[in-house]
Formats: sequence, C-alpha cells, structure tokens
Amino acid sequence: MIKLLDIAKYFLQKGNIPENGVLADFTMGNGNDTLFLCKLVPEGKVYAFDIQKEAVENTRLKLSEEGAVNAELIQDSHAEADKYIKEKLNGGMFNLGYRPGSDKKVHTMCHSTITAIRKALDMLLPGAVLVISVYPGHEEGKKEGELILSELSGYDKRIFSVAVYRIINSEDSPFIIAVQKSKGKNRS
Ligand code: SAM
Repeated sequence: MIKLLDIAKYFLQKGNIPENGVLADFTMGNGNDTLFLCKLVPEGKVYAFDIQKEAVENTRLKLSEEGAVNAELIQDSHAEADKYIKEKLNGGMFNLGYRPGSDKKVHTMCHSTITAIRKALDMLLPGAVLVISVYPGHEEGKKEGELILSELSGYDKRIFSVAVYRIINSEDSPFIIAVQKSKGKNRS
C-alpha cells in the first residue's frame, strides 16, 4: 500500500509549486515536514508553527544542519496564523496529533485545528492545495477527523475540491484530506 506521507507529498511537489513560492507547515513538530517544504521553495519562504518550544528548537537545528535558511519558525498556535502570514499561500500542510518522541498529552485540538484550517484555506492561492494528515487512533484525533470531514464536506464544490485517502477497513488508521482551491473558471 502506498505510504500516507507519499500521498501528502504528491500534492506538494516540484512542478506544482514555484521555487519562489510561499508555503506553511501548520504543525512543525520535529521539522521533517518543514524541511521538505523548505526544499520545495528554495527561493521562497516557509512559515512553520508549533506551540512547543522544543519543536521550534528541534526544527531550527534540523534546518541548520541541512542549510535551509528560508523558514520562519513561529512558537504560537496555528489558529493565530493570520497574524503572521500576510501573503497568499502556494500550499500548506497539517500533520495533526502529537510530536513523535514527546509528551502525548500535548496534541492538536479540534477547536484550534478547525479555526486554523479555515484560515489556511482562506490564504490559499487559486489552484493551491492544503494537505491534512489525521490520526483517528486517539480520542481527540478521532473527533478532529469527524469535525474536519463534516465541515469540508459542506464546502461549495465550485470553490474547493476535497478528497479523502483512507483505508476503509481500518477505522483507526491515519488518513489524508487534500483540499484544492479552485483555479477560478468554475467559481460562481
Ligand atoms: N510535521 C511534524 C514533523 O515533521 O515532525 C509532525 C507534527 S506532530 C504530528 C503535531 C505537532 O502539532 C506537535 O508538535 C504539536 O505540538 C503541534 N501542535 C499542537 N497544537 C498546535 C497548535 N495549536 N498550533 C500549532 N501546532 C500545534
């Protein structure tokens, strides 16, 4: 079976994103996704958010080891993203849940996640994609998944295309939601 992360990365790849583009990692964690995004836009910029100081420190170290200098690391909730991002986005990622190797009590929460997703979708350029990885194997993750799917399934198809990649015979398995903003011609 194709790996979930590869599906997430499929939507955000060279060719879809200009080298001087602007991207956002809304859940920085240990910086793996931030680094991936930095490499996609070597002439552009990546905004990365996490509430944990250690996430910012780990990511700073990872980026400096790799020579990536095009990220702004922000220790704040992704629900505040619009305070920091003033440009439109060529793409974005949410990798929900808790930081691997950290206290599992610190994880993304329904209310701030949905606020942040709404703001992120508002920031997308026409044609740009937001990729959300959901982990329903823990209680809050299950609630987050249900809330996000319920919200996005009501969106106007002329403005957003919403796809879900999910193993349907394993309800605890992580899944991916990809949301593309319309390029414009079908919009009302
Ligand atoms: N992208 C990461 C990587 O490459 O290592 C993995 C992300 S991890 C699954 C989820 C992260 O979301 C955790 O580090 C957690 O601290 C962070 N998080 C939780 N609530 C948050 C919030 N309100 N705003 C931003 N980040 C948050």
